[in-house]
Amino acid sequence: MSETTAAKLKKLRAQMQAQKLAGYVVPRQDEFQGEYVAAYAERLKWLSGFSGSWGTAIVLAKKAAVFVDGRYTTQVREQVEAKAFSFHHLIDEPPQAWLKTALKKGDALGYDPMLLTVADARRYAQACAEIGAKFVPADKNLVDAIWEGQPARSRLPLFVQPEKYAGKSAKAKLKDIAAGLKKQRCDAVVLAEPSSVAWVFNLRGRDVPFTPVVLAYAILHQSGKAELFVAPEQVTPEVKKALAAVATVHSPATLVQRLKALGRKKVLLDEGSAPEKVRQVLVAAKALVTLGADPCTMPKAQKNAVEAQGARDAQLRDGAALSNFLHWLSVEAPKGGVSEAMAAAKLADFRKATGKLEDLSFETIPASGPHAAIPHYHLPEGPSRMLKRDEIFLIDSGGQYRDGTTDVTRTVIVGTPSAEMRDRFTRVLKGMIAISRVRFPAGTTGAHIDALARAGLWEAGLDFDHGTGHGIGSYLSVHEGPARISKANHVVLKPGMILSDEPGYYKPGHYGIRIENLLLVTAPSAIAGGEREMLGFETLTFAPIDRALIETKLLTRDDLRWLDAYHAEVLAKLGPLMGGAALDWLKTACAPLG
Ligand code: ZN
Ligand code: ZN
Repeated sequence: MSETTAAKLKKLRAQMQAQKLAGYVVPRQDEFQGEYVAAYAERLKWLSGFSGSWGTAIVLAKKAAVFVDGRYTTQVREQVEAKAFSFHHLIDEPPQAWLKTALKKGDALGYDPMLLTVADARRYAQACAEIGAKFVPADKNLVDAIWEGQPARSRLPLFVQPEKYAGKSAKAKLKDIAAGLKKQRCDAVVLAEPSSVAWVFNLRGRDVPFTPVVLAYAILHQSGKAELFVAPEQVTPEVKKALAAVATVHSPATLVQRLKALGRKKVLLDEGSAPEKVRQVLVAAKALVTLGADPCTMPKAQKNAVEAQGARDAQLRDGAALSNFLHWLSVEAPKGGVSEAMAAAKLADFRKATGKLEDLSFETIPASGPHAAIPHYHLPEGPSRMLKRDEIFLIDSGGQYRDGTTDVTRTVIVGTPSAEMRDRFTRVLKGMIAISRVRFPAGTTGAHIDALARAGLWEAGLDFDHGTGHGIGSYLSVHEGPARISKANHVVLKPGMILSDEPGYYKPGHYGIRIENLLLVTAPSAIAGGEREMLGFETLTFAPIDRALIETKLLTRDDLRWLDAYHAEVLAKLGPLMGGAALDWLKTACAPLG
């Protein structure tokens, strides 16, 4: 029998008392700050029941609180016992604000300094200081101390991402980073972002679902030397050979000792990813800590020519799998008998049939009818909803291939759409097309172009409550920084970046729409008769857009020309990869509307 929440909280409180702590912070993130965490690190879920990808609990002697963002306000009520925890909005009522009323002067709030970033810890410390409380790193993780049957940490073997996919050797990447450190007058940088470690060493791993990262820290020195902290059992002969010329390998247990060796040196840390513990050890060793951006973030985001070609190849393979699925759906769904779970499984089967799928890039979102109005819909654990006639079906999914990561959404009608559905779909499509076609000068950011994706919705008094697009990795994270297409992102768009273009429309309780393609930022080029060179986007994703949901009247001549050209390209590119009835279907699905 599993332990009750009350029993777990009682044990945690006993631990707190033994450590003289008035409270303890339990964040969702692990020591690598990723979107997906391994089973051993699901501490928040174990303690509270909450399984969302972002959130924090704070346990005090008499009360406890869970903080989640707008995506999870319904879910947290379903999963967490209201008797044990109060629920709060992470943005509207952040933990730091709540603490000011919940803690009193002289109290000590404990935390695990490996689980909070430098920036997180500073926010908590400030909130505590304002009321005369202390923010105290505990010498062990108090949840681990009471978690019976906590899964062991998997240390699966790493593998090499060869240069034929990576496009650049680890040696050359490390040389560039070293040159950058020299310019910043830093002696070393501590990398704590797993995708940066994976990228710089051309390594991948299987420690977490969906993202093939290496859960490891690294220290890169200005001299060009590098230290990688991974368990010996993770290092295969192939990996050992690849690393021999570029890095020394150390056990993760020796990290603190190696950080101490940076005493009196100037060390760069990214406050958004580095654990507070790393900063504390460096400061205690009298290192001079400089806060700045992770030097791998920008070069990782700007895909080189080999990675860009890999993305094109992966997208075609993936687009053909998706199109085979859409054909299957067009035949089976109107008959009835297709559930959301069956649809997701069928699409995964088509991806597997490519023979190149390593993993899905995230958990497929197969949302029918009113479920499509929930942007981050998750399949329930039990039986799922059946697709019904005259309802919308939205499917957002992606694959991990050695040459690229994909992420694509298509929204289709089973049966006949209402006039309103066609209107809304077409407005979303206009936004998707506007971003695909835009040309822009150097210096343009995602924030500058975000409105283009919304203009068609705005003119009808409509909008959607998420960003228009996110960056995506090269056989890495499906959500990759630093650039996004959103109102608040001020990172300049650079050639080689891959971004999603995914406007939507959501009518709660009824239906939802999202259309998502991935785009590659192109180098500046001249426009006939123009004066300045302009960057732009190359569309990477190819799969038909449901013609039955398009209200042609709402499209401009340029929209229509773009759409017909796009569908012609879908047919030309995917046709050779498909056959039989699916190919016949594709020809009809891609027929011109103009
Ligand atoms: Zn998506
Ligand atoms: Zn996406």
